Amino acid sequence: GKMISDKMKRYTQGNSAIRAMFEEGKQMAKKFGKENVYDFSLGNPNVPAPKEVNEAILDIVKNENSLELHGYMSNAGYESVRSEIADFINKKHGTNFNESNIIMTVGAAGGLNVLFKTLLNPGEEVITFAPFFSEYRMYTENYDANLVVISPNTVDFQPNIKEFEEKITVKTKVVIINSPNNPTGVVYSEETLISIGKILEKKSKEFGTDIYIVSDEPYRELVYGDIEVPYVTKYYKNALVGYSFSKSLSLPGERIGYIVIPDEADDSELIKNGAIIATRILGFVNSPSLIQKVVSKCLNCKADIEFYDKNRRILYEALTSYGFECTKPDGAFYLFLKTPNNDDAEFVKTAKKYNILLVGAASFGCPGYVRIAYCVSRQTVENSLPKFKELAKEYSL
Ligand code: PLP
Repeated sequence: GKMISDKMKRYTQGNSAIRAMFEEGKQMAKKFGKENVYDFSLGNPNVPAPKEVNEAILDIVKNENSLELHGYMSNAGYESVRSEIADFINKKHGTNFNESNIIMTVGAAGGLNVLFKTLLNPGEEVITFAPFFSEYRMYTENYDANLVVISPNTVDFQPNIKEFEEKITVKTKVVIINSPNNPTGVVYSEETLISIGKILEKKSKEFGTDIYIVSDEPYRELVYGDIEVPYVTKYYKNALVGYSFSKSLSLPGERIGYIVIPDEADDSELIKNGAIIATRILGFVNSPSLIQKVVSKCLNCKADIEFYDKNRRILYEALTSYGFECTKPDGAFYLFLKTPNNDDAEFVKTAKKYNILLVGAASFGCPGYVRIAYCVSRQTVENSLPKFKELAKEYSL
C-alpha cells in the first residue's frame, strides 16, 4: 500500500462509495428493469445537444483547413473564438471584455483547476458556502491549500453572510461561489453578491490582501421563469468567472468552457499569463480545438431548457403536495429536499426500497437533505411519483 500518494489513497477510498452506489443502481436496473428504477442520483444532462451543434461540426470539418483545425494553437485558445465569446458576454451583460480576458478551458473543472493553480500558495484558504459541489475540496487540495466551509443557511440557501465575514482570515485567497447552485438549484440574489463584495473589500483592506471571487457557472443558462443570474464582475473588481458548455449545450463529454479574467482585477496581467501557463503545465496544453470552434458558432443556442423546467414543476408540485419540504429551485436541474427525520443516510436507504435513488447531502456539506437530479426522462419522473407518495406515507407525512 505504499505505491500511491497518501492524498490519492484517501480519494480512492472516498470514490469507492460513489462507485458502489453507481454499481448498485446498475444491479437494480438489471433486477427490476430500467423503467422501474428511478435514478435521480446523477447530474448528467439527458436532453440532446441542440441540432446546431452537429451542424456546426459538419460545417467546420468540411470547410476548414485540417492543419489549422486540428493543430496546436495559442495555449489560451483560438483568438477568434475568444473574441466572439467576449462580444457575447458584453452584449448580454454590458461588460467590456476582449479576447485577452478570455481563456478557453477543459470544462469548468479544467478552468477551476487553472485558476486555483494560478492563485493558490500552499496553506492559503479557499472559502466555499455549503452546500457545495464536493470536488471543490479536491481542486483546492491539488495545490495544498485548505477548503474552509461556511455552514448552510437553511432558510433560503443564500450564503450565510454572517459566518462568512467571521471566517475570512489573512490566509483567505479565494471565495468560490456557484449559482445557479448544485445541489440546491438556488440562484444567488443581487443583494447576496453586493454583500459578499462589500465584505471582501472591507476585509482585504483590513488584512492588506487580495481576495478573489471565483464564480463557478456551469448552470448560468439553466434558469426558469424570468429569473436573472447577476454577472459577478459587475459587483466586485476581483471577480473571476469559470463557465462551461457541459450543461447549457449538453456537451459534458466534449470538455469545453472558458474563464474570464477582467482587466479591473488586481494583478490582472499576471493572472492572465499565469492561467495560460497553468493550462499548459497542468497537461491540458489547450482546450480541444474542434469543439472550441463549434461552441463559438452556438453561443446563442441552448439545450431544451423547457424539458427540465417541466420536470422541475411536476416534481416540486407533487413532492410538496405529499408533505415533503423542498427548496423552490430557480435554476440548474436539482431539487433539494429536507429529510423528514433529519437523517439523509437513512432516507436514501429507505427511498431505495421504493427503487428511488438519491444522493445524501452530507457529501455536499449539508446533512439532513437529499439532492434529486431531475435531468432524467419524463417517464422516470412520472412513474416515480406514486413511489414518492408511498415514501411520504412511510414517514407519516
Ligand atoms: N461545477 C459544478 C457545480 C458542477 O456541477 C460541475 C459538473 O457537474 C462542474 C463544476 C464540472 O463541470 P464540467 O463538466 O464543465 O467540468
